[in-house]
Amino acid sequence: MAELLKGADVVAALNGRMIDDIEILRNRGVSPTLAILRVGERADDISYEKTATKRCGTVGVDVRNVVLPADVTQETLMQNVLALNDDANVHGVLIFRPLPRHLDESAVCAALKPEKDVDGITEGSLAGVFTGSGKGFAPCTAEACMEILDHYNIDCTGKRAVVIGRSLVVGKPVAIMLMGKHATVTVCHTRTVDVPAIARNAEILIVAAGKMESLTKEYFSPGQIVLDVGINWNDEKGKLCGDVKFDDAEPIVAAITPVPGGVGTVTTSVLVSHVVRAAKNRI
Ligand code: NAD
Repeated sequence: MAELLKGADVVAALNGRMIDDIEILRNRGVSPTLAILRVGERADDISYEKTATKRCGTVGVDVRNVVLPADVTQETLMQNVLALNDDANVHGVLIFRPLPRHLDESAVCAALKPEKDVDGITEGSLAGVFTGSGKGFAPCTAEACMEILDHYNIDCTGKRAVVIGRSLVVGKPVAIMLMGKHATVTVCHTRTVDVPAIARNAEILIVAAGKMESLTKEYFSPGQIVLDVGINWNDEKGKLCGDVKFDDAEPIVAAITPVPGGVGTVTTSVLVSHVVRAAKNRI
């Protein structure tokens, strides 16, 4: 039976590290604040907004909610981003994406002040990940994967790590971060030949394919550490499922993150920790 790499344990450790910083900030009259900018009423955005708001509340980070209609103009959206940039009481900004199709998302990302980019969406933040300079904020999900590995004392040095997926939000940054931890990294995508064979050869396997339960037993081998980034709503089962078919992987591998309760839950806390860091950077 595989060890379950539970997100809650990592969250507790992250919260513990944040609490002291928040107290220092509050003693100096600073209330760390996250602005959440949502366009429209997408159910998954609203759900994440609720989770993030609750998680912020747990540690004493304030939340400012900005909600714009789905047919908002680019001009109004940009004005809102610029207003949040200029608001000294806002330390971090989360902008839900994808934005509705009529909006220019890259212009919105580019307009956000790098020091408030707690979700790691600006080119400056991505450059920080790529160079390892520590500047900006890494995309939260990629950092959440690294937090899980650290928390469970999984040493990446010299290990064969395979990342399935090459998105800017997860696959690419996590591959770079694994390299920063001295792993030997292979990235698989939809054009990769024989993904199961490459995946089986991994010692650390990070799955961000965006396809529900698409990794079945031929992708796994004994001794592996598996981080399942996928979050998919399974209508048939009436619950959230990962990109990994858990019941196939769990009897084979050494350790695996559950869905829900794995990478996703840590991602939210990483976001909160970024807000605290952004506030600290300003004092
Ligand atoms: P995406 O659709 O942007 O990217 C998926 C990537 O997987 C692509 O690069 C594609 O080439 C690759 N891919 C797809 N099928 C493949 C296959 N069979 N073999 C090899 N590569 C394959 O998705 P994303 O935004 O990176 O998100 C990935 C998953 O993670 C989704 O399920 C998403 O819901 C979830 N997600 C979770 C969190 C979290 O906090 N846990 C955050 C963001 C995204």
